[in-house]
Amino acid sequence: ACTANDVAAALRAAAETVAEHRSELTDLDRPIGDADHGENLHRGFTALTAGLEGAVPETPGAVLKLAATTLISKVGGAAGPLYGTAFLRAATAVGQASELDAAAVVAALRAGLDGVVVRGKAEVGDATMVDALKPAVEAAERAEGDGVAAVLSAAADAAEEGANSTKPLVARKGRASYLGERSIGHLDPGARSTALLLRAFAEVAQ
Ligand code: ADP
Ligand code: MG
Ligand code: MG
Repeated sequence: ACTANDVAAALRAAAETVAEHRSELTDLDRPIGDADHGENLHRGFTALTAGLEGAVPETPGAVLKLAATTLISKVGGAAGPLYGTAFLRAATAVGQASELDAAAVVAALRAGLDGVVVRGKAEVGDATMVDALKPAVEAAERAEGDGVAAVLSAAADAAEEGANSTKPLVARKGRASYLGERSIGHLDPGARSTALLLRAFAEVAQ
């Protein structure tokens, strides 16, 4: 099971991954957007790491809520409110529990996806983070009986495949959609960052 400290460790690992892949994410955002996705996330996750120094909030839900409020206030752009909403919904889904089992982790992922979809109205095939997150949640649901580590690694695998699937697509949401057919041939930066975040969570849970 997964404690508040485990969730904090997963978020610190996510921050490290974002720092390592900052240029890559920004480079993905250059031809089809405004070349800031890596910087946006790095700003948010740096603030989150600082917020997790010292005393970590007492429950997994409270840690997820801190992530939500920090990302909403620091990331900006389209991705800030979307990731912020995902973490806020995940926090609400897990409530006051002191530990999360696999079912709770799956419920948190499902709630996060639902939040992104309510907020951004993207469907699979629109070339957004939903192309990574939705198959990740579905894979997590199939792995629920195998424990938290299996849930997260199945989610990360599916998210990577989903992110790669955005390359041949025409973007239909966000800035990349302004390019129409010229968005074809480019990996969506938000789908890539979703896959990176889930991989970081999975590695911490192993
Ligand atoms: P901005 O486009 O405002 O500069 P970012 O570059 O940080 O914001 O994030 C862009 C990413 O946000 C895209 O690659 C895409 O994955 C995601 N995105 C944009 N709009 C939507 C939406 N309506 N639904 C889901 N994801 C979206
Ligand atoms: Mg951008
Ligand atoms: Mg921007």
